[in-house]
Amino acid sequence: MKRKVILLKFGELFLKGRNRHEFINLLKKNICKKLKDLKFKLDETQGRLIISEFDEEYEQEFVVRLQKVFGLIAIACAFEIETSLDNIEKNVLQMDFENVKTFKIETKRADKNFPMTSMDVDKHIGEVVLEKYKHLKVDLYSPEKIVHIELRTNGKSYIYDKLISCVGGLPLGSAGKGLLLLSGGIDSPVAGYLMSKRGLEIEAVHFHSYPYTSLQAKEKVIQLAKEISAYCGKIKLHIISFTEIQEEIHRNCDADYMITIMRRIMMRIAEKISNNNGLGAIVTGESLGQVASQTMQSMNVTNSVVSLPVFRPLIAFDKEEIMDISRKIGTYETSILPYEDCCTVFLPKNPVIKPTIKKAEFLENKLDIESLVQTAINNEEILEIDEF
Ligand code: ATP
Ligand code: MG
Repeated sequence: MKRKVILLKFGELFLKGRNRHEFINLLKKNICKKLKDLKFKLDETQGRLIISEFDEEYEQEFVVRLQKVFGLIAIACAFEIETSLDNIEKNVLQMDFENVKTFKIETKRADKNFPMTSMDVDKHIGEVVLEKYKHLKVDLYSPEKIVHIELRTNGKSYIYDKLISCVGGLPLGSAGKGLLLLSGGIDSPVAGYLMSKRGLEIEAVHFHSYPYTSLQAKEKVIQLAKEISAYCGKIKLHIISFTEIQEEIHRNCDADYMITIMRRIMMRIAEKISNNNGLGAIVTGESLGQVASQTMQSMNVTNSVVSLPVFRPLIAFDKEEIMDISRKIGTYETSILPYEDCCTVFLPKNPVIKPTIKKAEFLENKLDIESLVQTAINNEEILEIDEF
């Protein structure tokens, strides 16, 4: 029997340890979630995942969605056939060779009972193809088409000619859960994506300063959360009004420390939300030296008010590199929409570049931080962003 299947390949590295089973189960669960409105069957055989019994009309939809599942490194739309040399010949010859000039056969033989070695199969099938398609040449180094033949121990073989690369990473949820500080900019959605790629599920917090910032600015952040949810899964989005806090800082603190103190209060609120929701880390989109608030000294002063780990996956990335990722994951166009962020309200002309903890603490003495933080959290708005 011949049937169409999708072969799913996952990274071998993370599968060595004792967690292997847990990882694969999580990966399967995430795949099923991603495909939940489609009909299909998912099997695990010989350390491989295979999708079958799906409507071929939706093949492309399967591909697009699976490319967003962390933990998969590649997929292939393949034919599953009964293993026999005849059968392999027949099916390879039915593939489309019209539009290429060079090819090679690449066989993997797990079935050691099969009487030919993989090199024998390569050679034999190659010759059969050359006989039928006179315009072709074999090119072992950079062929236009590679025909993959996998001989499995269960009596089945898989034939395909395109290995489609996926995002890689670790299954979402395998690294616990964290809180992403999500602004409307380019960086923080990318930071969320990268942490989820390492298995971290996320909730997000956004600070707005309505009416200094517009309602569109908030809508933009909701849109960004939707866009990254295609990778990061569903996201609980905490929306916090920062207006009163900013006014208080503006009234009481030195202008050059305005951003430093805002950042410290954002961190305190983020830590509280994390503790209330069982989240084990804070994630930001900061990159060393990008702006005054992202110097080593600034980050040290903002870090010092929290005890949770703060993940900054973009710390060593250039803006260009960050922009490339944001284009790839589809957040760029939304991020560059011209809406203001709360950090641009009351923006001082000369923000301090090397703040000190001592001075920040001194200025904060004039604020009732605890009550500001608590009030902001009491008034939070929560949105559940479904997986996109
Ligand atoms: P982004 O492109 O992510 O906005 P940025 O280059 O504009 O970053 P900053 O404005 O200095 O840099 O912000 C640094 C980080 O602080 C952001 O990446 C984000 O994680 C967090 N942050 C800034 N503003 C907000 C906000 N209004 N709500 C939530 N998090 C924020
Ligand atoms: Mg910003």
